[in-house]
Amino acid sequence: MRQIVIISGKGGTGKTVITASFAAIAESKVMADCDVDAADLHLLLTPEIKEKGFLKSGKTAEIDPDKCVKCGKCLEVCRFRAVQSNFVIDPVSCEGCSFCSLVCPERAISMRENVTGEWFVSNTRFGPMVHAKLGIAEENSGKLVNIVKSKAKELAQNNGARFVIVDGAPGIGCPVIASISEADIALIVTEPTISGMHDADRVIKVARHFSVPIKLTINKYDLNMDMSDIIEDYCRKNNIDVVGKVPFDEVVVEAMVSGKTIIEYSAGKTAQIIKKIWNSVSS
Ligand code: SF4
Ligand code: SF4
Repeated sequence: MRQIVIISGKGGTGKTVITASFAAIAESKVMADCDVDAADLHLLLTPEIKEKGFLKSGKTAEIDPDKCVKCGKCLEVCRFRAVQSNFVIDPVSCEGCSFCSLVCPERAISMRENVTGEWFVSNTRFGPMVHAKLGIAEENSGKLVNIVKSKAKELAQNNGARFVIVDGAPGIGCPVIASISEADIALIVTEPTISGMHDADRVIKVARHFSVPIKLTINKYDLNMDMSDIIEDYCRKNNIDVVGKVPFDEVVVEAMVSGKTIIEYSAGKTAQIIKKIWNSVSS
């Protein structure tokens, strides 16, 4: 089983368009959407949820109004001013230290586990997919990404799938490190702009640090040929294989609007280039 992760230094480079295309091309695979901050692979793959679970982290106090006699002890001891004057806990201020629950003479305070995210195993028209949703205002520590990846790997092993195709988290922090760990290859998707070059350079350094082999593709390369030349030159000097240059193509937008991958929507030039990129990263 081969793990192929598609990453970019930042969002908006067309990474998900390429990942969804790989889902349409590859046979015998499990998809893993590790872009849990801004998951959008499901928009193209329309998953049907079969199994789900929660990521829990930390605790928040909760007062049972039927048991509370308003003695004020919890309000006195809370250093975080999380107990409001009406004896309702402010969940944003509560640090989950449990002090209030220990001093409450009526045992009216319980400590509830915080749900910080949800993970799903789904069926799509291209086969199984594991994806997740981070809770509102929750920080992405990479834990949810690790759950998505390990579920996808387990599923691939159980199904005898040849590939796990991972839509990686953008950026260079913990989520992207979690995305690329154990990958057999990372395909970096960049765009021909100065910031695209800069972001690709940062993510290349992260992948190299973790000894993950890398290949690169330039998306919409023809929008700035000079910058594309600079990126190719950089790749030559750094021994990075540029496995394809995807042109700007309005058909890509048309395909997305109709809820299809470019592979399903068109047999044109862009679809052929993406097929060649898949051949290069999957062999
Ligand atoms: S310590 Fe218990 S009984 Fe007293 S105010 Fe707080 S919750 Fe109510
Ligand atoms: S758990 Fe700690 S922080 Fe939260 S309300 Fe109780 S005493 Fe305050």
